[in-house]
Amino acid sequence: MMKRVGFIGWRGMVGSVLLKRMEEENDFSKINPVFFSTSQSGQDGPINNHISCNVLKNAYNIDLLQEMDIIITCQGSIYTNKIYPELRKNNWKGYWIDASSCLRMKKNSTIILDPINYHIIQDSINKGIKTFVGGNCTVSLMLMSLGGLFEKKLIEWISVSTYQAASGAGASYIIELLKQMGMLFNSVKKELFDDCTTILELENKVTKMSRSSSFPKKYFSVPLAGSLIPWIDKKMINGQSREEWKGQAETNKILGLLENKVLIDGICVRISSLRCHSQSFTIKLKKELSLDNIQEIIANHNQWVNVIPNNIEETLLKLTPSSVTNTLNIPIGRLRKLNIGSKYISAFTVGDQLLWGAAEPLRRMLRILID
Ligand code: NAP
Repeated sequence: MMKRVGFIGWRGMVGSVLLKRMEEENDFSKINPVFFSTSQSGQDGPINNHISCNVLKNAYNIDLLQEMDIIITCQGSIYTNKIYPELRKNNWKGYWIDASSCLRMKKNSTIILDPINYHIIQDSINKGIKTFVGGNCTVSLMLMSLGGLFEKKLIEWISVSTYQAASGAGASYIIELLKQMGMLFNSVKKELFDDCTTILELENKVTKMSRSSSFPKKYFSVPLAGSLIPWIDKKMINGQSREEWKGQAETNKILGLLENKVLIDGICVRISSLRCHSQSFTIKLKKELSLDNIQEIIANHNQWVNVIPNNIEETLLKLTPSSVTNTLNIPIGRLRKLNIGSKYISAFTVGDQLLWGAAEPLRRMLRILID
């Protein structure tokens, strides 16, 4: 019999991308989907080629949730923290697949990124683990790009600077960014096409608008359009942001490394790209390798990673958020040996954080469970 799969949070950024990908891959033909909502129960659920109209169920109704064999939630940590313990307390034995971060580091959960840790996922299923959680977006994208070097245990440490998209914070944030962009444009709409206006006049008007009290910043709390925010998530006691802390903690859990951990640290920055995260790495290798060898190891790891030659034309064409958005491609370029020493390399990667960074590992986990 087909498994009953409950979807929560399907309306949000990650959830909508998940549904789109599941449609593309014909996943709905293999399950019996039930859609829930925390705010719209009783209204119509999603309708597409593979899902018939489905009245939304109440996502807080534990009895209904208990009937599911598998639950996929993209709703967020507040929901998971409220509902997951109740379900498990009621002895629910189904599989819980989650996009939020709150269960990632729990002992009885596995972080999922099957091109990297398929064997750990299979081991976990065999051991009776029932909770599978998608990794942090930058962590998953880093692992997809540098998977070959991780697999061959060639990395001693990584220093990373991230350039993270607005969509990483959720639907309301990306809407706010677009409103900010619109207001900046509107503030110089006439002057932009008037040759008499000087560039400093234009810049002054835009800056004034971004600092005005009417500028929309309910979610980001400061302007992001025309600016950046060098802090993502809460503060940890050691001065890292939680996003920065996740880099080392989650990577080593995904790789199953309890000792000889790979050291990872850096600064995470929110920028105004829409759905692609970029990352700039300084990597210390454990041994000296030729650049050709490094590129080959990276390129051969998985079918999505793509080494971009270190030249201007291909970098501009293939290594930017606008070229990668809405694709599963993981380009990695700017690969070169650094002046610091022959074991040190630089690399720059871009990835759609709603696909490999969020929805795709969840979709693939569902397929592992139902196939
Ligand atoms: P989101 O876009 O804010 O959506 C979450 C829920 O908010 C929706 O399912 C919907 O629930 C409700 N909602 C309220 N206003 C909405 C609107 N205008 N449009 C759509 N939905 C709206 O959150 P998200 O970015 O998808 O993230 C969900 C979880 O995944 C979070 O825990 C996040 O940390 C995690 N995650 C996100 C990313 C990412 O790239 N964004 C990456 C990895 C992990 P109801 O239908 O129940 O009202």
